[in-house]
Amino acid sequence: MTDVVIIGGGVVGCMIARELSRFDLSVVLLEKEEDVASGTSKANSAVIHAGYDAKPGTLKAQLNIRGNALFDKICDELDVPFKRIGSLVVAVKEDDVKELEKLLEQGKANGVSPLKIISKEELFELEPNINSKACAALYAPTAGIINPFELTVALAENAAQNGVTIRFNSPVVDVKACDDGMMMVKTPHETFHSPFVINAAGLFADEISQMAGAEAYTITPRKGEYLIFDKRCSDMINMVIFPTPTKFSKGILVCPTIDGNFFIGPNSNDIEDKHDTGVTSEGIDEIIRGARRLVPGLPLENVITSFAGLRAVSNTNDFIIEASRKVKGFINVGGIQSPGLSSAPAIAEMVIEILQEEGLTLKEKNNFNSRRNRIYPFRELNDEERKKLIRHNPAYGHVICRCETVTEGEIVDAIRRPVGARSLDGIKRRTRAGLGRCQGGFCSPRVIKILSRELGISPLKVTKCGQGSEILKGRTKDFIDSDGDFNES
Ligand SMILES: Cc1cc2nc3c(=O)[nH]c(=O)nc-3n(C[C@H](O)[C@H](O)[C@H](O)COP(=O)(O)OP(=O)(O)OC[C@H]3O[C@@H](n4cnc5c(N)ncnc54)[C@H](O)[C@@H]3O)c2cc1C
Repeated sequence: MTDVVIIGGGVVGCMIARELSRFDLSVVLLEKEEDVASGTSKANSAVIHAGYDAKPGTLKAQLNIRGNALFDKICDELDVPFKRIGSLVVAVKEDDVKELEKLLEQGKANGVSPLKIISKEELFELEPNINSKACAALYAPTAGIINPFELTVALAENAAQNGVTIRFNSPVVDVKACDDGMMMVKTPHETFHSPFVINAAGLFADEISQMAGAEAYTITPRKGEYLIFDKRCSDMINMVIFPTPTKFSKGILVCPTIDGNFFIGPNSNDIEDKHDTGVTSEGIDEIIRGARRLVPGLPLENVITSFAGLRAVSNTNDFIIEASRKVKGFINVGGIQSPGLSSAPAIAEMVIEILQEEGLTLKEKNNFNSRRNRIYPFRELNDEERKKLIRHNPAYGHVICRCETVTEGEIVDAIRRPVGARSLDGIKRRTRAGLGRCQGGFCSPRVIKILSRELGISPLKVTKCGQGSEILKGRTKDFIDSDGDFNES
């Protein structure tokens, strides 16, 4: 029997899975896609917010503050890079200063500390490339940046190491309460019976709740588009830079990434289609206009790619984290829009408390291992370390992605781990191969070859992100020569 079924392998589902893996329980996580972090958790601003933005008294405010404080320990245990680089909300006109004062009060009410308004002079010292009209800023040193898919993969790996079963390509198609007090959860391949089901299905949490006969709510997708700049512009800005917020979002920011790029975005537009992550030319214009108000001299010739993510906005406009009063054992974790990434560790704590209140007995395992090691990036090693690694395993001497200096050794490690990569996107998220300036133009054929060899499948079957996205679709066996190379002629 399964003790707990988790629906959804985003950062929230994986954080809950890892927390539950501390206890003597049988836990299954079901994810409809071929990898974790395939939904909103792969496409967001990646900021661990300080916590001044949410309205006092909301779950968003409470869990953001607690979540932020937990990141140092979690990232240390999981070997995930995390930097508290601080954030600035910039007033670009005198009127905006009143907004900064409101945010300062709100932040104090939420318990954010330290938090202060800094002068124009202090602001320019911190950020020399900021709009010369800027007159003050709200400074929150506890804000940080992270790679959200690296975090989600690490959580899933650690949960799996500690006994959680993760099933991919497993869309939940039915959930219902049975007469024996258990719940039944069905995917196209399997049926699970469990006393507890956690609904962490992101944009689709409302549909899962309805399927289970639990409380009704709606999730509206709110799109945010982004542009990413090449690493060569990494000295453009130092901190997370926000404008004063709008009613609907924190506004279009300019922000460094943990991997050394920087991005502008996101805008904020409600849409209908929960699958529409396309980037539009209007959206790009909107984010460039917005970002230029903060940093006028954006080096647009160095944009390397664009993407969009969808916020899961509930009709309550707050997180919905509660045991159903209608269906025993069903727990909703829905409407996890921003600051959901920042709050994820605290959401997991809250879910554990709810499970206990609902009658789950938690007995700590004595062999729980909180530690997991990252795929160590070759690019971060010095020459001596590189030589040693290559002597130990010559695959580290074979650079596959030139832009990001990713070696064959790292790619093989990404595939062979628990919860290993199965697609080009899986490799990209775990190693950064394909995320550099050429966006995979050089390395993709080489990564396909390694995936094919390691997974024991034809290169024709290797996908970008799961079934239906075969990269060499339409090609025949003749396209591949006896060495596994491709005949371009
Ligand atoms: C533009 C944008 C910017 C953001 N910026 C920030 C930020 O800077 N800081 C911050 O804290 N937060 C931010 N967020 C919010 C943050 O990204 C989310 O709160 C968080 O990623 C939500 O994680 P999740 O696990 O709930 O959802 P998801 O990552 O969407 O995971 C849900 C999973 O459920 C799976 N699923 C769905 N239906 C089924 C089914 N039937 N069966 C099985 N699996 C299913 C999906 O495939 C998906 O993998 C931002 C969001 C957006 C869109």
